[in-house]
Amino acid sequence: MAINVTAYNEIIQSLENTATLVAVSKLKPSSDIELMYNLGQRNFGENYVQELVNKYDQLPKDILWHFIGHLQSNKVKYIAPFVHLIHGVDSLKLLQEINKQAIKNNRVIPCLLQVHIAQEETKFGFDDAELANINWEEINKLSGVSIVGLMGMASFSENENKVRNEFKHLKNVFLKLQATHSNLQIISMGMSGDYLMAIEEGSNMIRIGSLLFGNR
Ligand SMILES: *Cc1c(COP(=O)(O)O)cnc(C)c1O
Repeated sequence: MAINVTAYNEIIQSLENTATLVAVSKLKPSSDIELMYNLGQRNFGENYVQELVNKYDQLPKDILWHFIGHLQSNKVKYIAPFVHLIHGVDSLKLLQEINKQAIKNNRVIPCLLQVHIAQEETKFGFDDAELANINWEEINKLSGVSIVGLMGMASFSENENKVRNEFKHLKNVFLKLQATHSNLQIISMGMSGDYLMAIEEGSNMIRIGSLLFGNR
């Protein structure tokens, strides 16, 4: 078997229904996804548009597909008909394009705003100041999208304190926003290396790839 069933069962048990597992299958074959589907897994995450579209075509239609990568505006149209949740929305321009394509497909597409929580420069997302200045009036006019939560990626670091503080920060930002935007329910944080800590810090959606499917 090309997937780690033991790890899968351990993760599912540790979640105790408090968080949703998104199995990140990027760069892995559809046959691996089928194996995990047969264990009962339905939420899968992908980073690349063309790969996601191919897998959508090949695989059972009750899979909930999460787009977790960096999405380019000109590619939104390919996933708009079926995507379940877009995690990495990092600009109003992208949100407007998702809205446009959603309306064309008679859909409301749930989205997460990506928040820049890592100290590393390379990660995408809104920083604190940008988030505080987001024009919610503008966003609320977009009838084809619904902002249902936040997503963040912590630093790739051995420094547990640093990673933990980044998760704590995202949770605080989330709680603050939620006070005025009750639609915000999802806090997507935690990957193979840090998901236990992410859950301790209040994650309710984890995105796990290599622990389940092996190294890419
Ligand atoms: C690849 C990826 C993951 C999964 O990473 P692993 O370390 O393999 O668990 C999670 N989130 C995002 C945004 C990713 O790009």
